Amino acid sequence: MKKPVIICVDDEKIVLTSLKSQLQHHFGSQYQIELAESAEETLELIEELKAEQQQVPLIIADYVMPGMYGDELLVKVKEQLPDTLSIMLTGQATAEAVGEAVNRAGLFRYISKPWHEKDFLLTVCTALDSFNQKQEIQRRSRFRQVLASVISLALKHGKLPQQLSHALDSLLSIPELHGASAAVYLLDSYGHLLQLEVAAGNQEVFSGTLPLSGHEHGCQYFQPLTYQGQTMGALGITCAKFMDDSPELPELLTSYGEALAGIIRLEQYHEALERHNAELEETVKRRTQDLQAALEQQEKLNNILLEANRKLDFYASMDSLTSLYNRRFFLKLANSEVERAKRYQHPVTFMMLDLDHFKNINDQYGHLAGDHVLERIALLLEDESREPDIIGRLGGEEFAILSPESTMQQASQMAERIRNRIKQESFEFEGHSIQVTVSIGISEVDVNEEHIESAMNRADKALYKSKGTGRNLVSIAGL
Ligand code: GH3
Ligand code: MG
Ligand code: MG
Repeated sequence: MKKPVIICVDDEKIVLTSLKSQLQHHFGSQYQIELAESAEETLELIEELKAEQQQVPLIIADYVMPGMYGDELLVKVKEQLPDTLSIMLTGQATAEAVGEAVNRAGLFRYISKPWHEKDFLLTVCTALDSFNQKQEIQRRSRFRQVLASVISLALKHGKLPQQLSHALDSLLSIPELHGASAAVYLLDSYGHLLQLEVAAGNQEVFSGTLPLSGHEHGCQYFQPLTYQGQTMGALGITCAKFMDDSPELPELLTSYGEALAGIIRLEQYHEALERHNAELEETVKRRTQDLQAALEQQEKLNNILLEANRKLDFYASMDSLTSLYNRRFFLKLANSEVERAKRYQHPVTFMMLDLDHFKNINDQYGHLAGDHVLERIALLLEDESREPDIIGRLGGEEFAILSPESTMQQASQMAERIRNRIKQESFEFEGHSIQVTVSIGISEVDVNEEHIESAMNRADKALYKSKGTGRNLVSIAGL
């Protein structure tokens, strides 16, 4: 590492020699003493030092010099090296010149010639301390800025590669890492493989295994990124000149590494949270769909049940052989028809029909033949009745017809038609031609009566009359 430089400028060689020996003796171990005999030479020297990136904490300049006065030179030096402190050393400077040098060149001290060595050395010492302190303050402020920028990144929350890239840019912006490149490596999920996450600076990619525990490694520096004791990756830096120049840098990098590890951890939490949220949404969506499907299924099932119930009702109201209303349902409908007739005082008739000697058909041709005849009779009754008529099979070979809006005359005409058709019909079954007759009794429904039963009883009586007087007859109740 090159030492910081103290420049002495004087046109008198003897002065320069004296200055050098005094400075060398007291500060030689830490500083390099450079001499210049003119302002011009000084500016050339400064250019060289700047090119070599050497620090110049102090310049000690004479006031009266050929070509350029000391105060003018210091103004020019200030332009080149704004941090460099200056001491003017002369016996001839006016108060104005000193004032000018203080104001324009930021003159640190003025010492009169001939100088008192102890005073001179004390002044130089003060200047160097002041310079170093200021440098230290500036460095700390830069470091603080780097850390602050990393912390503010952590608070902002964004895509991890972008955040790391910003963080690395901010780190490489400090003069101590001028020309360096940096990269962040993350431990993969198996915990042993390192991946390059982000590179900055000259984008140089590190090769070989990274020593997670080590620090300096040639001109490469590795800072483990640990968060609460857990190593999450590493920060790698390559730099031409390194570390010895700035002993505080490792301290900065340690804090920086902690902040970086914090960002990575935070981002991992965010990712996990987002993943969890997405999974949750997916689950809710799936559950909602399941629920929807279940509801649809339920509705279908309900419809099926409703339909089944409707059919059950229907079948409960039907006689299974003839598809006519069964006794129970016929009476229910007949009673509600009586109610209606009562309200409107409309005529209603009731007809009871009983097949004659039906038992013989069963006996002669078999029960199936009997069934067949019953089915055909039902069709015949439907055929002969009107739309509003209610037809029921009351049991066995006994049928009934309730005719709304029907007078006894109309009813007896219909009964005659039915009796005639049955008599004339020949029911074919398995090669047999089966003949049958029917006996009928008719009654008029008294709309002032509560139920159908009395009309039914009267019709029944009339029917018995038909049976009793030869069968194949229509009898009218009350006649
Ligand atoms: P009547 O002229 O006096 O009415 O004589 P009938 O033989 O018709 O009367 P009865 O009451 O003595 O006999 C009725 C018969 O009807 C007896 C029974 O076997 C038959 N029967 C009742 N229900 C059914 C049925 O669903 N199918 C068949 N095939 N026969 C039935
Ligand atoms: Mg009978
Ligand atoms: Mg009978």
